[in-house]
Amino acid sequence: MVYRNVYEAVLGTINFLINMILIDGKKEAADLRGELRGEVLKLKSEHNKIPGLTVILIGDLTPSQIYVRNKEKAANEVGLKSEVIKYPDSVEEKTILDKIKELNIDDSVSGILVQLPLPKHINKQHVIETISPDKDVDGLHPMNVGNLSSGYQGSIPCTPLGCYFLIKKVEPNLRGKKAVMVGRSNLNGKAMAQLLLQEDCTVTITHSKTKDLQGECLEADVIVAAVGIPELIKGDWVKKDTIVIDVGINKTENGIVGDVKFDEVSKVAKALTPVPGGVGPMTIACLLKNTIECFKRAQKK
Ligand code: NAP
Repeated sequence: MVYRNVYEAVLGTINFLINMILIDGKKEAADLRGELRGEVLKLKSEHNKIPGLTVILIGDLTPSQIYVRNKEKAANEVGLKSEVIKYPDSVEEKTILDKIKELNIDDSVSGILVQLPLPKHINKQHVIETISPDKDVDGLHPMNVGNLSSGYQGSIPCTPLGCYFLIKKVEPNLRGKKAVMVGRSNLNGKAMAQLLLQEDCTVTITHSKTKDLQGECLEADVIVAAVGIPELIKGDWVKKDTIVIDVGINKTENGIVGDVKFDEVSKVAKALTPVPGGVGPMTIACLLKNTIECFKRAQKK
């Protein structure tokens, strides 16, 4: 599209933005928290106790501290019992594993989350595998990874679960759609792929060795970008009518940006999540949902 002057360009942009669905993750997350608040009240009256989330925070990385504070605030808002246990950077791995084992057998704790990343001397896999699969609200325990890929009940990683709800809000029927994951981390791309496969999408998982990433994206009806490269996905990588979910959170000198070049992609996509205000708030709401689901499964045992 060629514009003859600035006025036309602004009007053109507004028109594109009006036609495009800007997926409001903040609103969707607030709605979900509202539902969860009602569910917690119901569970309290049925069982005379409430679900509890315990977060272990190691070290003083600012982003981790902010995430944990936001999680605690959201947990309190929906009426969950919430506890944060803090350790210094120098804490030994054994201390953390022993604490997790203690929490595993504590009936007042429904969900355990160890905030990532961990200091280098603590083995992430040891930590993940020590958390009981029944309390693994991050959905990273191999048992839960297996449950998800087998279509069995279990915790689903919070970010992909949040993305899934956002996609379904725009397009409830995903059968036969072509979905492209950009990024194959356990936390994001792989779990997201499983969720969309369960919705009968045809799923492609791309990664750093993918030969023609633009070509793969151009085939997609749904793109989920979880890469960690600022504005990697450009406007001419996306076809009209594609739903684009931007998981990326990248700190740049121009502020926080996603993995998707918003100003370009918003002009072609059917729907797009902003960064911030898209996937992030849903991730936290889904953590609360996972905690409640763990509580409910524990009551049935
Ligand atoms: P990660 O573990 O570093 O994985 C990144 C993935 O991107 C890898 O699979 C990597 O491929 C792939 N990749 C790297 N360069 C690529 C390229 N040029 N083309 C295609 N794929 C490429 O990252 P992550 O934990 O999934 O996080 C991704 C982003 O999401 C980060 O910005 C993170 O901050 C953000 N995040 C946001 C939330 C939220 O709540 N919004 C939650 C979690 C993460 P290889 O496997 O080949 O290396």
